[in-house]
Amino acid sequence: MDLGIVDDELATCVACGLCLPHCPTYRVTGEEALSPRGRVAAMRQVQWDGADPDATFVRSLETCVQCRGCETACPSGVPFGRLIEPARQSLAEGPPSPAGGAPLARPPRTFRLAVRTLRWHRLVLAGSSALAVAQRLRLVPRRLASRLGVPARLPIRRPRLRPSGADVWVFTGCVMDAWQRDVHAAVARVVEATGTGVAYPGPGAACCGALAAHAGLGTEARARAAATMAALPGDAPILVDAAGCGAQLKDYGHLLGTPEAAAFAARVRDVHEWLAERMDDLPLAAPAAADRPRVAVQDPCHLRHVQRAHAAVRTVLAPVADVVELDDEGLCCGAGGAYAAVQPDLAAAIRDRKLAAIARAGAPVVASANPGCALHLAAAGVDVVHPCQLVAEAIWPRNRVP
Ligand code: SF4
Ligand code: SF4
Repeated sequence: MDLGIVDDELATCVACGLCLPHCPTYRVTGEEALSPRGRVAAMRQVQWDGADPDATFVRSLETCVQCRGCETACPSGVPFGRLIEPARQSLAEGPPSPAGGAPLARPPRTFRLAVRTLRWHRLVLAGSSALAVAQRLRLVPRRLASRLGVPARLPIRRPRLRPSGADVWVFTGCVMDAWQRDVHAAVARVVEATGTGVAYPGPGAACCGALAAHAGLGTEARARAAATMAALPGDAPILVDAAGCGAQLKDYGHLLGTPEAAAFAARVRDVHEWLAERMDDLPLAAPAAADRPRVAVQDPCHLRHVQRAHAAVRTVLAPVADVVELDDEGLCCGAGGAYAAVQPDLAAAIRDRKLAAIARAGAPVVASANPGCALHLAAAGVDVVHPCQLVAEAIWPRNRVP
């Protein structure tokens, strides 16, 4: 079966195994089939040797968090994301299974419907508010909400985002805008404090398509990419405060394969990358040592391994907090987009390793630049904030939400 992987890229692995300690699924299971090396070998057997893409193969690929920790660890430069994405798409949208009419690993109907719904942002906001009211009326079992990655107390109302200029766009996205708009508000206010005018996209940029892409729903992902590009015209930089969305937007050139998409992707910056170059423009007074919070930094995989921009978070936090590093070499937390919802047992086991690292660090607060990681850790009782919220607190004390 052709998995759509470029053969030269599939050939780069030399099976050295150096990636294994950096793979969260291998670390919690010890199974070769759930390691990067095992997954590459399985993809070769299917694409090169004509092996059946059986249930073992599907499990090997579906359990991958797509954290790309193996990419940064690999001395041979295996582009693991370029392997797993077309393979997942082949399973989700490719030829029907010999046993039935559907593709081999098409995501469940409810999941596909949920992903498609993300294109209607007003519906997402209204649905989230209705769910928030249901939570207040105790109509939503906490265990079910936690299982689906829904915060225990969703906001019923959200701060209004008012444009202040056209120097940069701030990308707002789908679920994050519904559940964590207070983060967007803090980010925008910090960006504006550098003397920069902020614009927001219209409803066309309702979702970057990352959740669809990770699930192998390439057709939906490309549709969301095209709509997002149309909603963010011009040359202004596009700042992103969610690592997963930023990685997806930066990948549009590869996803769509057009010069326009490549030019769009070149405008995208993680907000910390952008801010790190402008810290002198912020009205920051050095806080007294006693006022500096001790903060452990959790590196989202899509910031550390994909965008490779995690150092910028330290630069942004340095004036306002005492940063404590985790001692787990950036191992994934198990959130992985919708991974925590579709692979709850593995996601929880992976998170347990992260929780242990956080406990060893001994900091009362964790800073995370990705909403999925923040929600996944918060569901386990961790106090998580976005790094820009800490900067906002330092500029405007006693206001976590400016
Ligand atoms: S992916 Fe890279 S690190 Fe892992 S086994 Fe292959 S060559 Fe070695
Ligand atoms: S992307 Fe992450 S989970 Fe998947 S094989 Fe690589 S390290 Fe393991």
